Amino acid sequence: MSTGKKEPSQPVNPLPQAGETGSSPESLEPAQSQDAIDAMLAQATAFRGAAVPAADDSTSSLPPVGEQRCGLIAIVGKPNVGKSTLLNALVGQKVSITSRKAQTTRHRITGMRTRAATQFVFVDTPGFQTRHGNALNRSLNRTVVGAVNDVDLIVFVVEAGQFNLADAKVLALLPEKTPAILLANKFDLIHRRAEIAPWLRSMQERHNFAEFVPMSANNAKDVERLFGICEKYLPVQPWMYGADELTDRSDRFMAAEIIREKLFRLTGDELPYTSTVIIDQYEEEGNLRKIAATIVVERDGHKGMIIGEKGEKLKRIGTEARHELEALTGGKVFLEIWVKVRSGWADDEARVKTFGYE
Ligand code: GDP
Ligand code: MG
Repeated sequence: MSTGKKEPSQPVNPLPQAGETGSSPESLEPAQSQDAIDAMLAQATAFRGAAVPAADDSTSSLPPVGEQRCGLIAIVGKPNVGKSTLLNALVGQKVSITSRKAQTTRHRITGMRTRAATQFVFVDTPGFQTRHGNALNRSLNRTVVGAVNDVDLIVFVVEAGQFNLADAKVLALLPEKTPAILLANKFDLIHRRAEIAPWLRSMQERHNFAEFVPMSANNAKDVERLFGICEKYLPVQPWMYGADELTDRSDRFMAAEIIREKLFRLTGDELPYTSTVIIDQYEEEGNLRKIAATIVVERDGHKGMIIGEKGEKLKRIGTEARHELEALTGGKVFLEIWVKVRSGWADDEARVKTFGYE
C-alpha cells in the first residue's frame, strides 16, 4: 500500500507480545523510570481477548451462525492522524484514499474484514472539520456524529504524544456509553518513549478509554495485534456481509475516489480542498470499463493548475488513476477526465447533496 510518505528507516515496534500481562489500563500508575514506562505501555496494550488465528483468513468453511461475531468499529479523529491509512491496513486493500493534505476523506467509508469467526466492520470518517463553516464541512461533521452513535467500539486516533483543540473537538463527540480505544498512531515518529508517559496519563484523564494502543498504522505487526484488541468488544451475532466482501462502496464510487486521490497528490497546496470529482459515465463491456469523469473546481485559476502546461498535469492524474483502476478491477480501463468550473459549490447545500455528500 502506498501512503505517499516514506517509511522511517528504523521503525520501532513499541507493542508487547500478545498475552504478556492482563491488567487493565485503568490501573496505570504514575511512572518515572524507563522500566516502569515500558511496563505501563505493556499493560496498557496487553492483549486481553480470545486469540485470533495468524494472518490466514479462513473463509473456506463458514463457522456456525451461533459462533459468529460481528460488530461495527468507528475510526475517528481529527484530519491527518492516519485514519484512512489504518482502515486500508485493516481491510488489507485500499478502500479509503489518503494524502498528506487534511480533509482528503469526505464520506463515511465502510471496510470489512472477516477473520475466522469474526467479522470486523470498520467505518472511516472524515476528520471533524473546524476551520470553515461551509455546507461541505457541515455535511462532513454530520457524517462523523452519525458514525459514532451506532457502533460497538470507537477507535479514537491521535498522533502519539499530541493532543490539541481539534482532537478535543472530536473527543467531545464520543458517547460515554460506547467503549473507546485510544490509538496513539505514528508511534514510529516518537524517538524518546519516556516522553510519552505523562502524555498517556493526561489522556486517561480526558476520557475513560478502555485501552491505550500505541502503534503505527503502517506497521503490519501492529495492525495484526489491533484485531485481537478489537475483537472482544464485538458481539456474538451473525455476520452482516459476505466473508470476502471488503467494502460497501461501488466500483463507480471507488473510481471517483481514486481520481480525487491523484488530484490531491499531484497538485500543490495552492489547489483548495474544495475541488471534487463526479463520474459522468461508467460502462462495463466485458473486461473493459469506459469511465468519463469531471473534476469540478471553484475558480478558473484552479482549472489551469490541474491541467498544467500543455495538459501534462491532467495527463498524469489520468494515467496514475487508470493504472490503479486497472489493478483494482483486473481489467482494462478507458478513462476520460474533464475539468469544469462551478463557483461556490462547497457553499451550496443543494449542490453538496447532488455531488453525493450526505
Ligand atoms: P486521515 O486524514 O486521518 O485519514 O489520515 P491519512 O490516513 O490520510 O494519513 C495522513 C498522513 O499520515 C499520510 O501521509 C500517511 O502516510 C501518514 N501516516 C499514517 N499513519 C502513519 C504512521 O503510523 N506513521 C507515520 N510516520 N505516518 C503515518
Ligand atoms: Mg482519511
